[in-house]
Amino acid sequence: MGHLEVKQPLPTVKVEQISPFLLLHHFGPMGVEAGSDPLDLGPHPHRGFEPVTFLYQGGIRHKDSRENEGVLQGGDVQWMTAGRGIIHSERASKAFLESGGVMEGIQLWVNLPKQYKMAQPGYQDIKSHQIPVLTEDDGGVSIKVVAGTYKGAKGPARTFTPILALQAQFQSGGYASIEIPGHFNALAYILNGEVTLNDNFSYTAEHLLHFRNDGESFTLRAKAASQVLILAGEPIDEPVASWGPYVMNTQTEIMEAMRDYQMGKMGVYVD
Ligand code: MN
Repeated sequence: MGHLEVKQPLPTVKVEQISPFLLLHHFGPMGVEAGSDPLDLGPHPHRGFEPVTFLYQGGIRHKDSRENEGVLQGGDVQWMTAGRGIIHSERASKAFLESGGVMEGIQLWVNLPKQYKMAQPGYQDIKSHQIPVLTEDDGGVSIKVVAGTYKGAKGPARTFTPILALQAQFQSGGYASIEIPGHFNALAYILNGEVTLNDNFSYTAEHLLHFRNDGESFTLRAKAASQVLILAGEPIDEPVASWGPYVMNTQTEIMEAMRDYQMGKMGVYVD
């Protein structure tokens, strides 16, 4: 592990999950010298959920046990299905190592329901230019639709359960009414800036707003230029058993995951 500063707005002591979202890490922003890798995550396994990376700044090279290899640049998204098991590494890209720069991103764990936990692993490498961008408030807000359909724009990410993933960029003063299906759980994470929720309370960077699934919209007004990640999804009403890199329904399935990894059933990673 490198020396990257990581904030963990989810889970917390008070909130175990906002189903189907299990974990949210915000790494950076951090200035990095040429030649040093702040990520340096060597090969490790996952099973039973979808690890997703939203890279805001920098460059990451991904490689896994299913011969997928890819480079993410700022604005790109990697939507991976661990399913029955995958082994992968995440490191700074060659170009980033050569030049250095700022690294910043979000790592999100999206749960899978029991019927898809052992699905074939998959890997969606989504480039920034493939993500539709909506503008609101005469350009005061731009919203990238990564997953789900939002105000007529369809995000490129394929998901197993209904999910909406929006990357919003507010100019100072920008205003948006965010519409969410009533039965979805929802959260908004403020990467930077400051926003006022429902013309009431204001929240600064690194706050996570957690919405109960009892309304269909909320409004955000930016007091300064702000970036907000908005996630919503149909809750998965099943028990969660998790240990390290595995998220299953029962402890027995966790033991099976550990055994299957040791027996090489999650594939072989070759660097
Ligand atoms: Mn990983």
